[in-house]
This record gives sequence, C-alpha cells and structure tokens, in this order.
Amino acid sequence: MSLISAVFLGPKPVFPVDFDMERKRMVDEDLRGRGIADEAVLKAMLKTPRHLFVEERYIERAYADSALPIKENQTISQPFIVALMTQSAMLKPSDRVLEIGTGSGYQAAVLAGIVKEVYTIEIVKNLADEARERLARLGYKNVKVLHGDGYHGWKEAAPFDAILITAAAPQIPQPLLDQLKMGGRMIAPVGGYWFSQDLLRLTREKGGVRKEYITGVVFVPMTGEVRK
Ligand code: SAH
Repeated sequence: MSLISAVFLGPKPVFPVDFDMERKRMVDEDLRGRGIADEAVLKAMLKTPRHLFVEERYIERAYADSALPIKENQTISQPFIVALMTQSAMLKPSDRVLEIGTGSGYQAAVLAGIVKEVYTIEIVKNLADEARERLARLGYKNVKVLHGDGYHGWKEAAPFDAILITAAAPQIPQPLLDQLKMGGRMIAPVGGYWFSQDLLRLTREKGGVRKEYITGVVFVPMTGEVRK
C-alpha cells in the first residue's frame, strides 16, 4: 500500500504528530504572532505539554488555538487566552498565585513554569482529583490543588500577588479581592451566562481597586456561592 492510500483509505488513519513541533508553531504563530510578548509566558507555554491535558480523542487538536471540551461539561481554555491572562497578570518569579477553576490543570501548569507557588481551586471533585494526579505525574511540585468553591479563596495561603479566575462571574467575589496583596492583580472574565464577558484586570491600590478592560471573552460560568 502506498503512503497516500495508507493515509486516506485506512479505517482509522493515523497521522504521526510531532507535538514538540506543533507546540512551537502554536507559540510562534498563535501567541507571539498575535501580540503576546512576555518572554517568560512564551517560554512557559513552549514547555507545557498541552496534549497531556486534553482528552485523548482531541489529542491531535491540542495545539490548535481553540478551547476544547474536558470532562464534566467544562473546557480547557484557548491557548491565546491562557497566554493573554498570564501576561496580563505581570508575574515575577517570586510571586504566589491563586487560580479559581482548575479544570484540566493546564493554566496552573503554565503558571507553575513562571512563578514560585501556584494554588488552584476546583469546584467539581472529579476534575480536582484528576488535575492533582496529572500535575503530580508530570512533576509539577509547586502547585497545590484544592477541591472547593473558589468564591471563598484560600485563606491559609493568602495574600496573593495575583489571582486568575478562569470561569465567568457575574461580579467579583469580595473574599478574592480581599486576598490580593497591595499592588496585586486579579484577571477575571466578568459578565453574564450567554453573552461574551469582559476580561478585566483589577489592581489593588491604596485608594481602592483600579479596573482595566482587556478584551471580550467567552468562559464557562463560575458556579456556587457567586450565584446566590
Ligand atoms: N483553567 C482551566 C479551564 C477552566 S474551565 C484549564 O486550564 O483547564 C472553568 C473551571 O472552573 C471548570 O472546571 C469549573 O468546574 C470551574 N469552576 C466553576 N465555578 C467554580 C467555583 N466557584 N470554584 C472553583 N472552580 C469553579
């Protein structure tokens, strides 16, 4: 059989995918090519194996610039948005960061490649357990995964240099704002269920909270206490 027929006529064609090459293409074209300029973010995304965070059946699309379904009707965010949120948090290597919405653990892994400590909270137990196990298996030692409602933050580990919320909230939970250091940055999609939300950066300052609009986004909803 020729190579062509092996590819087009076989019952389930197997395309050999070079994930390292695909990932490099993603970083060069979809991230750097579209304006992500923070070298620490680009480097972290170049070394984070996204194909090991997606469901097996989507593995060949792991480095396309799109969100993909994960278990429990949730999604792993689009690489460009992960990069944009991470860059917008203006991180330093010594930072301690809180993420709300662990999902697959991918965003936490990217953060772990940049900062000293990452704390991440997931409300769906199954997802929290799987992400914790996956991150441990991949050797991430500076990430702690908690199963719970992120609305309340992580008091024992607060305050944080940055907080990323990766689910859409109708408004920012006050306990999370309270757990930001002075000068700390919160990156969060704020808005309704069905429409696109505003990705915002909130910076805690002496006089109050400074709010900046980053872009429009679509995230799965934040559930739990924030809806009450
Ligand atoms: N950051 C993830 C993708 C997030 S999808 C990744 O990199 O894969 C949003 C996640 O937020 C979902 O897993 C959802 O279960 C979780 N979530 C929704 N509301 C939450 C809450 N109140 N506290 C913690 N996690 C929440």
